[in-house]
Amino acid sequence: MKKELNKTRSIKLFNQANKHIPGGVNSPVRAFHAVGGQPLFIRSARGAYLYDEDGNSFIDMINSWGPMILGHAHEVVTEAVHKAIYNSLSFGAPSEKEIEMAELVCDMVPSIEKVRMVNSGTEATMSAIRLARGYTERDKIIKFEGCYHGHGDSFLISAGSGAATMGKPDSPGVTKNTAKDTLNAPFNDAQQVQKLVTNHKNEVAAIIVEPVAGNMGCVPPADGFLQRLRNICDENGVVLIFDEVMTGFRLGPSGAQGLYGIKPDLTTLGKIIGGGMPVGAYGGNKEIMDQISPEGPVYQAGTLSGNPVAMTAGIAMLKYLKDHPETYDKINSTTKRIAQGFRENANRIGKNYTVNQVGSMFSLFFTEQPVNNFTMAKKSDTNLFGRYFNAMLNRNIYLAPSQFESLFISSEISSQQADKIIHANADSLEEIHKE
Ligand SMILES: *Cc1c(COP(=O)(O)O)cnc(C)c1O
Repeated sequence: MKKELNKTRSIKLFNQANKHIPGGVNSPVRAFHAVGGQPLFIRSARGAYLYDEDGNSFIDMINSWGPMILGHAHEVVTEAVHKAIYNSLSFGAPSEKEIEMAELVCDMVPSIEKVRMVNSGTEATMSAIRLARGYTERDKIIKFEGCYHGHGDSFLISAGSGAATMGKPDSPGVTKNTAKDTLNAPFNDAQQVQKLVTNHKNEVAAIIVEPVAGNMGCVPPADGFLQRLRNICDENGVVLIFDEVMTGFRLGPSGAQGLYGIKPDLTTLGKIIGGGMPVGAYGGNKEIMDQISPEGPVYQAGTLSGNPVAMTAGIAMLKYLKDHPETYDKINSTTKRIAQGFRENANRIGKNYTVNQVGSMFSLFFTEQPVNNFTMAKKSDTNLFGRYFNAMLNRNIYLAPSQFESLFISSEISSQQADKIIHANADSLEEIHKE
């Protein structure tokens, strides 16, 4: 039995969108290029469900790439925003909400003593490395293959070939001169990091890492990896930046750093912190943060930063998570159950596909080998993933449209819906292996 969705209106809208929007979308992954087919246009979303323009409904397993951890249109957030909008949408001057947000963030994430609000995760990471460079008076950064830190020039650099440690631009428009200041190491390879730091003595300003990688699919840190990065930074005067744009407030109230007990110098935040509004933030110890203007010489600014409506949404979200820590128990156990269900389904058809899971993040990789870095993630059969994605979509389950993304579970996904997801996975795996 093969079902097909009615996509009439989405197809029409996509054609229309392509006329005035490059590729028809405002962020590339939404275009479904990695899975074939065309994107669905979403009209509304509530709780665990997305509703598209053709009247199809889907259990949402991306949740706006993370922010909707309480499901869509949660009343705690929508009611607060509703009240706030009548006080004007923006002041461009200080407001009390910004203090409330800063206090909440510092309270929930103990390594953060001071925090600066921005408007996206990209802005947060770009600003954090500028700050680290300004503070250390060094130019180079180390990042990890397969980690994503937004679309700042310094991050769109891949590893050079062979023994070359110098990076090369990943995108036209990024200059060679920018590329030479970004060094790449394989995720989970602290030895390679040590080598880079030794070879570039007193040149490395910062190491930036997703403490649990989510942008090559979900890849947990190996035992001791984060601690070794901490030690390397301490021994060499390097700033350790945890990019917790994805993991912050998701893997617990204090993010991955709380889960693994490692204190970075700087933390970047985004996604959940805005409750669905465009918010990012970077923070850390006072000494480093006081280098930012107007307190210090490192420049960074934003017309809409700390926007009162965005702060209201974020505060409502964070407060709820802080006051309801049981939310984490719920989403973690739902995710664990789904991940286990996926493993069993694969085994039933004679496959030992890898399912990585940390808290409410998880990925099914179409490879039978363990996935602990980007090289291993790339061993996945992405063709098979594309077929799997569409098979799930036809069963009304909305996955991230790429093998190299993590899925996110919201607190609105009930055990009944978890069963539906597991069931759809079993049917989809069977379908794609029959073809
Ligand atoms: C999403 C993400 C970013 C970029 O955030 P945007 O808000 O899309 O600019 C940066 N780092 C990580 C780890 C992310 O997951």
